[in-house]
Amino acid sequence: MEYKKLGRTDVMIPTIGLGTWKYTGGIMPLRRGVDLGANLIDTAEMYKTESAVGDAISGMRNQVFIATKVSGSHIKYDEIMRAAERSLRELGVDSIDLYQVHWPNSSVPIGETMRAMEELVDVGVVKHIGVSNFGVRELEEARGMMSKYPIVSNQVLYNLNKREIERDLLYYCLENHITILAYTPLASGSLSKSANIMGGVRKLVGKNDLSPGGVLNTISAEVGKTPAQVALNWCTVHPNVVAIPKANTVKHTEENCDSVGWYLSEEQMRRLDRAFPLRNDPNVYYRG
Ligand code: NAP
Repeated sequence: MEYKKLGRTDVMIPTIGLGTWKYTGGIMPLRRGVDLGANLIDTAEMYKTESAVGDAISGMRNQVFIATKVSGSHIKYDEIMRAAERSLRELGVDSIDLYQVHWPNSSVPIGETMRAMEELVDVGVVKHIGVSNFGVRELEEARGMMSKYPIVSNQVLYNLNKREIERDLLYYCLENHITILAYTPLASGSLSKSANIMGGVRKLVGKNDLSPGGVLNTISAEVGKTPAQVALNWCTVHPNVVAIPKANTVKHTEENCDSVGWYLSEEQMRRLDRAFPLRNDPNVYYRG
């Protein structure tokens, strides 16, 4: 496993973490991931998987970096305090390594939210403060309200099909020492599915299949990795980006953990760039 600095802290987190939205894999996939060095587990009060994470890390709390989230609809001061208590109980731990605001909510003053987050650090319940689904403007506002601790991370959608953060958010975070936790890095599994389908088509149409799935498949064959591994490797090439794929099986977990520590060539990166261009998706809203 490869590790990167969390924000400006001295904490090192794995380039591949373990997502748990819709996680139903039980104890083994998460434990195997931790054994392989993917010791960041991401959950959220909204996912209802905190207790499954708690079960998986039982007896190995000190080896795991736990990231959870307070729902964006619970970010008034009192609500955050209650949500943090609930998360501790569900996880069966006495502190959260990274506590993230799941999404911005303009109906609650951001100063109130960030004051509560800072107080949770003061009392030792939370080690680091993060956010999720924040654009540049929302990050600026939140950071402007904080007096004691930095925002160390922003968890956002990033994969070959959804590159909107490359417009500005990725670079803003890089300049300001904010780690990006890339969510849905496998496009919910569709990247590897389309590449596998194109693998079959490739046999029929020959090598020069320039469709996105075809290019991903060809590059996978060139580097001797799977399409999912290439997609994760591409996603984490930036120095401040780690990815948190979800895997319900040990096999997928092992595959994902082996997606870093090797490099695509510049030419292969250029081919991926051409096959999966940055688009304007109005549904992805981290902009300005
Ligand atoms: P994802 O990780 O892109 O995709 C998960 C899908 O990919 C599952 O169907 C999984 O199958 C499959 N998969 C995993 N490894 C694979 C491999 N090596 N080969 C082929 N298929 C593979 O999608 P996601 O769950 O949406 O995103 C990951 C995590 O990001 C979430 O679990 C959550 O922690 C976080 N997230 C955060 C937000 C937010 O708003 N902050 C939103 C969405 C997600 P199996 O399950 O069968 O292994």
